[in-house]
Amino acid sequence: MSIQNNINAIRLHIPSRAQLVCVSKFHSNNEIMEAYQVGERIFGESKVQEMCDKHETLPKDIQWHFIGHLQTNKIKYIVPFVELIHGVDSIKLLEEINKQAQKSDKKVKCLLQVYIAKEDSKFGFTAEELVDFLKQDILKDFEHVSVCGLMGMATFTDDKIQIRNEFKSLKSLFETVKMEFFENIAEFKEISMGMSHDFQIAIDEGSTMVRIGSSIFGARNY
Ligand SMILES: *Cc1c(COP(=O)(O)O)cnc(C)c1O
Repeated sequence: MSIQNNINAIRLHIPSRAQLVCVSKFHSNNEIMEAYQVGERIFGESKVQEMCDKHETLPKDIQWHFIGHLQTNKIKYIVPFVELIHGVDSIKLLEEINKQAQKSDKKVKCLLQVYIAKEDSKFGFTAEELVDFLKQDILKDFEHVSVCGLMGMATFTDDKIQIRNEFKSLKSLFETVKMEFFENIAEFKEISMGMSHDFQIAIDEGSTMVRIGSSIFGARNY
């Protein structure tokens, strides 16, 4: 299957309320352009250098989403052009994003990453940490950050019931914090969940953004 066929097949399962982030990490500019030519404009990258290089060379109407683990010392390189940072998992990171965004005189959109999986390798706030953090009401001091919602990754497993339950827990946490802390904040509306192997479950459970790589571009050669 070609990249274009893959996208057409995936698009059939994505309702208009959800956005498709084409995860192009480790894939070439030519491959990205194939997706671009069928109309895709949102691309996800997980390495700062790689995203900066691709932003340099590729069309300027591409929206770059950073989906990886971000180191504080590298934030400054992506802040001038990044559309959305998915994986914000510490106050320190938010502080630094705010600082760099202020220097660039812009407001950077972020999602707070929540740990929903039953494995050790995933980053994020636990539900409890997230609520504690929001209760401290320090987000209002970060005027150059716009928190647009939550992001999570389910356990890498074939157990569809477990995956569904993890996505349900993220959706319900979203509803809780939306009501308690973001009630009148219209931009707090995104739930970024779902990857190649589990995006259809994520869509069922209320995802507004799916991050799909290998089902579009094929296997990655690290
Ligand atoms: C790599 C990656 C994806 C895409 O994964 P696929 O299984 O290739 O669809 C999605 N989200 C994050 C955070 C990733 O790092």
